[in-house]
Amino acid sequence: MKVMKFGGTSVGKPQRMHEVAKLVTADEEPKIVVLSALSGTTNALVEISESMARGDRNAAKQQIEALEAHYKQFITELLTDPGQLEKAKAVITEHFEFLTIILRISFSEALNKDILAQGELLSTKLFSLYLEEAHIDHVLIPALEFMTIDGNDEPQIGTIKVKLSQLLQRNKEKKIFITQGYISRNARGEVDNLKRGGSDYSASLIAAAINASVCEIWTDIDGMHNNDPRVVNKTMPIEQLSFEEAAELAYFGAKILHPASIWPAQYFNVPVKLLNTLQPLAKGTLITEKAGSVGVKAVAAKDGITAIKIKSSRMLLAYGFLRKVFEVFEKYRTSIDMITTSEVAVSVTIDNDIYIKEIVKELEAYGAVELDTNQTIVSIVGNEITETKEVMRKLFEAVSPVPVRMVSYGGSRHNISLLIPRSYKEQTLQLLNKGLFGLE
Ligand code: ASP
Ligand code: MG
Repeated sequence: MKVMKFGGTSVGKPQRMHEVAKLVTADEEPKIVVLSALSGTTNALVEISESMARGDRNAAKQQIEALEAHYKQFITELLTDPGQLEKAKAVITEHFEFLTIILRISFSEALNKDILAQGELLSTKLFSLYLEEAHIDHVLIPALEFMTIDGNDEPQIGTIKVKLSQLLQRNKEKKIFITQGYISRNARGEVDNLKRGGSDYSASLIAAAINASVCEIWTDIDGMHNNDPRVVNKTMPIEQLSFEEAAELAYFGAKILHPASIWPAQYFNVPVKLLNTLQPLAKGTLITEKAGSVGVKAVAAKDGITAIKIKSSRMLLAYGFLRKVFEVFEKYRTSIDMITTSEVAVSVTIDNDIYIKEIVKELEAYGAVELDTNQTIVSIVGNEITETKEVMRKLFEAVSPVPVRMVSYGGSRHNISLLIPRSYKEQTLQLLNKGLFGLE
């Protein structure tokens, strides 16, 4: 059994949904098909929620009406059978009636999650109606009946496994199962989600839970590329990556895959394939335990980074200093990404600065604190790159015009990271494309 996940753009147009139906029937292997919301829908739902939170019910009402109009138009091109169209209208009415009711009740965090869940509920129901029209045998299994997260928002893989296999057992004769990505039920039994972009995570959890032969992530690009196509002219797809390499790339900016989605596949050793709905025959990227080849494979950049330097002569020859520093970040549940040390100072980076004021205040007890905001981490990822000849020379020659603030080397054998000011990002990625890959 395999998992096939289709992202928002792959189901965002009626014609694209028709293509997805072809892809899920292209082979005989039983499969769980995980769908995102139609592209733009989750953003629209976030806006509706924000209007509600502000108490601006008029704005929310208008946003709901605009979204409903979009869906009404969508089904006219998705379906032709009048009976199916009637059913689709009823689905839309049901979900938009819910959204209209929220205009009259008080806003809460739980309600926000309910609002956000509408996108995936709609996309899967509409897709199911289309499959019915096309006489494609399948069954819709509600993610809210098996995808559970605990009090720390962590998915409970054991529970997911048990509940999902019960659902599959109940429909033993079926070969195509459709379900929602992104949405889940939390420890209080409320509707919740796996955070933005979380459909990949759903797919990977499901693949792990059923021990799938493969977890296919279908998007509109032919796999992970060696560099950011929005910044450099020429990029190439990466044929194979190890889970570790993929995790580094996903975290450090390759938008194609949600970073959390790596661990379930890795832990249960399910290969992941990144494939392109627009070019279904293209190889894409295969992510497995094995890296496939040695050397630099890609560079990626992550913006919005803050560097914090703590300088103290008390650090000299002292032990326990780093522990105290780290404890401050732990207290504010802020994770550290890069770290470099000298004998009298330590620099760390964070990508989430909501508690920055509190953190700085507490760190000042240990030394002088300096902040550099608006930084970018550029990460060079590959297999055994720290042992690959010439990488360091090529890398530093390439970035010689760039004021590099931090370098992290040797933390793992597949990553070298540089911290640079955000304003140098484009130039740096272009220089590295030439220096490391020989691409202009
Ligand atoms: N629909 C959700 C989002 O846009 C989840 C996903 O597509 O992965 O974030
Ligand atoms: Mg996505």
